[in-house]
Amino acid sequence: MSLRIERLSCRLGDKQILDNIEGLLAKPGEITALLGPNGAGKSTLLKGIAGLERLAPCSRISLDGMALTGVSPAVRAEHLYYLPQQPGSSSALTVFEAIMLARRTRIKENGRQGLYRVRDMLRDLELEEMAERTLATLSGGERQRVALAQAMVREPRVLLLDEPTSALDLHHQLQVLDWLSRRAQESAMILVMAIHDLNLAARFAAHMWMLKAGHTAAWGGPGDVLTPARLRDVYAIEAQVEWSENAPPRITPLTATRRLGI
Ligand code: ADP
Ligand code: MG
Repeated sequence: MSLRIERLSCRLGDKQILDNIEGLLAKPGEITALLGPNGAGKSTLLKGIAGLERLAPCSRISLDGMALTGVSPAVRAEHLYYLPQQPGSSSALTVFEAIMLARRTRIKENGRQGLYRVRDMLRDLELEEMAERTLATLSGGERQRVALAQAMVREPRVLLLDEPTSALDLHHQLQVLDWLSRRAQESAMILVMAIHDLNLAARFAAHMWMLKAGHTAAWGGPGDVLTPARLRDVYAIEAQVEWSENAPPRITPLTATRRLGI
């Protein structure tokens, strides 16, 4: 069981956004962090995997050995769910209705099972107190947690999250990432997540893909990927990286070294 990017290229307008990305692998039960500066191609890559962006015909992505490229969007949607960077925020639905609707859209079931799953989501994401409020009245961080609940309640085999903690306070960043990593493990879900915070990525992700200007800059475990030389090259920063045994590397960003071209 794995999600494998054997080859992937994508052109948008007259710009080559992703150029021959290859050899990336994401395994079930663990978080794969997708790293890279603004404009590196992270969102395009996630959308490409989900079938929401037109890829070059030579592209090849497989899920458990089954080629996903060429499969209809409806079939892909049965297996993969992409949560965009900025989920819409103005809706007259309540928090409860929005999560229930996401569940119903994806899973055909009778009885109270769905209701229980929605209740679990509300509890896990600390949303119970706002269950009857409409989405339009929520703060950015609250809305982001609802979007995560809507994604997870669908129980996709592959969950693609685009900067899912960008609007969250420190408590909710830790709480949500801990929850995501437990959920991925419990349901053997393949979870790929674009994220900017390298310390959180190092702590919660078992595996990393790092992009630079539409190319693969590195992949592997946090200890292999997050080196000072690579952070200088990819992010144009000087950073201190501390390694210790049995703990993820700790990154202290120090200075921006040069203009970050993409
Ligand atoms: P990231 O998510 O890593 O910040 P994106 O995948 O959103 O990067 O974008 C990668 C590059 O592609 C950026 O330079 C962006 O401006 C460009 N881009 C995205 N969509 C289009 C488009 N429809 N047409 C032209 N360029 C685009
Ligand atoms: Mg993006």
